[in-house]
Amino acid sequence: MADQTVRVRFAPSPTGYLHVGGARTALYNYLYAKHTGGEFILRIEDTDEARSTEESMRMQIADLQWLGMKWSEGPDPDSLIDVGAYGPYRQSRRLDIYKEHAQRLLEEGQAYYCFMTDEEIEVQRQAAIQQGRPPQVNSPYRDWPIEKAQERLDKGDKAVVRFKVVEKRDYVLQDLVRGEVTFPSDMVGDFVLLRSTGMPVYNFCCVVDDALMKITHVFRAEEHLSNSLRQMMLYHAFNYPLPKFGHLSVVLGSDKQKLSKRHGATSCHDYAQNGYLPEALNNFVALLGWSSPAAQEILSMEELIAQFDYDRLNASPAVFDEQKLNWVNATHLRALPNEELWKRVEPFLNEAGLKLPADSGWRFRALDAFKTSMTTLKDAVELFRPLSETPVSIATESEEVLGFPTTRAVIEAWKAGIEQAGSDYLTEEQFNKLQDSIKDSQNVKGKQLFQPIRVAVIGKPQGTELKMLVPLMHKRTLLARADQVLSRIKG
Ligand code: GLU
Repeated sequence: MADQTVRVRFAPSPTGYLHVGGARTALYNYLYAKHTGGEFILRIEDTDEARSTEESMRMQIADLQWLGMKWSEGPDPDSLIDVGAYGPYRQSRRLDIYKEHAQRLLEEGQAYYCFMTDEEIEVQRQAAIQQGRPPQVNSPYRDWPIEKAQERLDKGDKAVVRFKVVEKRDYVLQDLVRGEVTFPSDMVGDFVLLRSTGMPVYNFCCVVDDALMKITHVFRAEEHLSNSLRQMMLYHAFNYPLPKFGHLSVVLGSDKQKLSKRHGATSCHDYAQNGYLPEALNNFVALLGWSSPAAQEILSMEELIAQFDYDRLNASPAVFDEQKLNWVNATHLRALPNEELWKRVEPFLNEAGLKLPADSGWRFRALDAFKTSMTTLKDAVELFRPLSETPVSIATESEEVLGFPTTRAVIEAWKAGIEQAGSDYLTEEQFNKLQDSIKDSQNVKGKQLFQPIRVAVIGKPQGTELKMLVPLMHKRTLLARADQVLSRIKG
């Protein structure tokens, strides 16, 4: 096993957007594959017919792509056609394979058809509970010869296929995250492999697929730890080699409850929409239960790949700290070259309907001015909004300023100063000089000086510092706004 190529998989159930917990599972598998030069495989676990949808599958694939994780086997992200030698990679297309495997266990006497009704199972359960025994099924069909069961099936009776738990022994899992975990086999009773509809259950498909897809390592959510017992029994029954398992820490919200939709945005899609960068989300999510040996907190995907190994996975619960995510996001955002940052910001600005100069020199100056105030890409919208070459909306709190007796004269002087400026844009220095000259010529100061100019520029008396905004506004926009505001002054 030692020199075998690492093959890991991410196996989402397509029942909604990709959750950040799922993204972390995907990422650890991906990082481990890349770190070891192995293969990362995407398998779609869509046997829950009621909840799985093709749309969810597409959404999760889109989210994984957004995060930059590429799989070498699995559905092609665009065509959804399977790529790889171990397909199909959608469980709903592997039903024959599961049937054959069930058949094999039936023939070997390791599984049996069980005709118990739900009512019969419930009666047994209640009786077991009353007698203080674990509520496990004790099927009268356990030792029926397969021919006898076949006769009933031929008559049209419905049966599930149950695995026969025979050996009374401890199963020991050498978990890569938790160390040795021991499960007594009597923790579980004979369990279902195929439902009476013929649909397989998760524990069964998972083992068949991981074995046939030659998966070597499985990093997955802690909630699957208890499934490992049934899965180990199945590996043993099929005589398939057991992959190495690592059950990850749970992710808690800031209230120390398991992270869920109650905590607000938890899907990758929400984070994308709210202006988080995929590299920041990867970085942040990687640190939920893993730490860098170099104690780095800000890591690129390349650094994550280089540093990731399972020896630094931590079994104790990780807390999803929104503030840390914001810090990680702001740090990645500020490190982006302006050209790249603009590409990422632009869709948000367009969506908000802002009309901004197309000139890249202007764009980069604006980004330089604003990026230290941005936590997310979306923050750009309010920062850029005053610069939009659209009419300014005059806020109600400007009324008081428009009523100062000196306001008209101040704005007239402001206009005159702009008209005299030689270039299309005022420099910060020119702006400061102009403001000083208005102070002297109009004999105003403080509120009477600053607020009318502010209203003439952004339509309201408070907001981002003008010395930052004005140099980014074309003369013609400044003049148009000043006129717009002047026309609102009575008298
Ligand atoms: N489909 C399972 C899930 O989404 C995968 C479990 C596993 O990795 O074995 O939780």
